[in-house]
Amino acid sequence: TQVYNFSSGPAMLPAEVLRRAQSELCDWQGLGTSVMEISHRGKEFIQVAEEAEKDFRFLLQIPSNYKVLFCHGGGRGQFAGVPLNLLGDKTSADYVDGGYWASSAVKEAHKYCTPNVIDAKVTVDGLRALKPMSEWQVSEDSAYLHYCPNETIDGIATHETPDFGDKVVVADFSSSILSHSLDISRFGVIYAGAQKNIGPAGLTLVIVREDLLGKAHKACPSILDYTVLNENDSMFNTPPTFAWYLSGLVFKWLKEQGGVEVMDKINREKASLLYGVIDKSDFYRNDVAPANRSRMNVPFQLADSALDKLFLEESFAAGLHALKGHRVVGGMRASIYNAMPLEGVKVLTNFMIDFERRHG
Ligand code: PLP
Repeated sequence: TQVYNFSSGPAMLPAEVLRRAQSELCDWQGLGTSVMEISHRGKEFIQVAEEAEKDFRFLLQIPSNYKVLFCHGGGRGQFAGVPLNLLGDKTSADYVDGGYWASSAVKEAHKYCTPNVIDAKVTVDGLRALKPMSEWQVSEDSAYLHYCPNETIDGIATHETPDFGDKVVVADFSSSILSHSLDISRFGVIYAGAQKNIGPAGLTLVIVREDLLGKAHKACPSILDYTVLNENDSMFNTPPTFAWYLSGLVFKWLKEQGGVEVMDKINREKASLLYGVIDKSDFYRNDVAPANRSRMNVPFQLADSALDKLFLEESFAAGLHALKGHRVVGGMRASIYNAMPLEGVKVLTNFMIDFERRHG
């Protein structure tokens, strides 16, 4: 059976990328060793690193006044890295709370500043929604505004582009980076753990506007300090070289697919197919307002939760893996990042329709 992995992260990688990595695993570029065994300071790896950055910049059209950093520490590392780098002499920052990950960022920020929490969660016609950005009450003296455009667990997203004048906007794009095009110039900092829409866990990408460098708190660990990382080409300590290399292969694959605009089109198609099947039946349910539905993470419930176990067993047997919802939400969740082909979502929706026919 062809397996489709709907895991929220670490998530599925493009099959072509895995096959290429497999073919060169033990003998990379005729060196007789693996790329993960060579020095990050040698010219061979530096070429891999530079090419990955070049392709990433091309895919997101990153302007030249932004630096790209290849870091350790994941999304949670940046929950600390952001305040440690950006507060300067300020003592507060705005934090929009739209779900689990945004509120986890608030918890971490409390160690370094007083977060001004903007609760964006609202209910519209009985459905979960987010306040539009125009209603986010930004405070004047905050060092920056932090938000998470795509909440991986809640399956809720804001699809708006921020426009907050001079306020430095920081966004946690861990679960939606590269799934659509972005106007990078609207942001001060964008960060994303790689393990959902980019590559393997262990690598975190940070895009930072260069005028925001040089302000890190003196207690900021050097490995989280954007200025130190930038001055050392992201090699202040040994970077996660294998994840960097594999992410580079994913960037090449994305370019071959036609880039992020093409991915956006396919991602919309996948999401509308899946939400369509959920909405058409009373057997399945998603409780997020259509305008705020995530195109990456689709949580859904069975009307009869007594069937959850059977649904998971039968879907797994059909090659549809990792559909169990997050423990804080329950039910099901299908993560449909870039690497999930439209065909995988078709197999899932056909399974769902058939399961309903048999058990509805
Ligand atoms: N932010 C978002 C939106 C996430 O989905 C996750 C993980 O799922 C995190 C942050 C935390 O990332 P990490 O596990 O890399 O620290």
